[in-house]
Amino acid sequence: MKAVLLHEHGGTEVLEYTDVETPQPGPGEVLVDLKAAALNRLDIWVRDGWPGIKLEYPHILGADGAGLVAESGAEVSGVQSGDRVAINPDLWCGRCVYCAAGQDNLCDSWRLLGESARGTYAQYLVVPERNLLPLPDTVGFETAAAASLVYLTAWHSLITRGKLRAGDRVLVVGAGGGVNSACIQIAHLAGAQVYVVGSDAAKLEQAESLGADELIDRSKEDWSKAIFKLTRRRGVDVVVDNVGAETFFHSIRAARKGGRILTVGNTSGPKFELDNRYLFGKHLTIIGSSMGPHTDFLTVMGLVFEDKLTPVIDSTFPLAEARAAQRKLESDDFFGKIVLLP
Ligand code: ZN
Repeated sequence: MKAVLLHEHGGTEVLEYTDVETPQPGPGEVLVDLKAAALNRLDIWVRDGWPGIKLEYPHILGADGAGLVAESGAEVSGVQSGDRVAINPDLWCGRCVYCAAGQDNLCDSWRLLGESARGTYAQYLVVPERNLLPLPDTVGFETAAAASLVYLTAWHSLITRGKLRAGDRVLVVGAGGGVNSACIQIAHLAGAQVYVVGSDAAKLEQAESLGADELIDRSKEDWSKAIFKLTRRRGVDVVVDNVGAETFFHSIRAARKGGRILTVGNTSGPKFELDNRYLFGKHLTIIGSSMGPHTDFLTVMGLVFEDKLTPVIDSTFPLAEARAAQRKLESDDFFGKIVLLP
């Protein structure tokens, strides 16, 4: 099969579109003929590498994918060749104490496609049968691939962990990335009032089209002060901050007393100072999460399949042009998901 291989860490030049042996499904596993694979910022981080990361080379990036069942291993009974499927990118053991509690995203042997297992920048992928979800004919492969990781992450953070309710005021810090776009849509669907801080007018306009109610341009004003004014000096119930170092201090200021700050990542850097007086003085709760359990995957993808949540697709590239697709992701000049077509 054709795949985009990674033999070492580095810039986009280390991505090599070439031939590699097609994997074979073992017991309980399925070979999927991938029709779409979406990019995530995670792909760049894995490509660049970080201290302690261990990849089995050649590695294949990509968490998100959708396609057709090509071949089933022994003991597979729920799918047949030709079935259209979406793929949960989490890999879990099904036996440890976390899996038994339905918290498979905390599994003791948790792995993620494209990070700690070979991923979706390829024509074929082998995954456990339980990772597959039937994809209705009405939903495109690009849509399913674009939704998987970011909608699972956003749903688990906002709804399961953050307990977002109708009427809550929620502030999403950042307008352009995939998780933030998903958060805006999910918060709107949940009946919350959605505030969005963005870096420019174009991204804010797009945030509005996804369901944002109040827009704040951080290039023009101090946004935590703006939130204070817009909420009549109260602050918001929930802040979604996946930016980190650049924004966390302002997020703490923007939260109301007793508010929750949700984080699933840190695009501007992982380490920053916290003024503890705000934490105890305002009774704040900081809630971290990563990905989400399979139950949340089923719930949120069901909403995507019903067209209640619709991922924004910025652009598509042939698999052979993975380097150009990643350069686009690194440029920050996009809104929504960038998708590869194997
Ligand atoms: Zn487990």
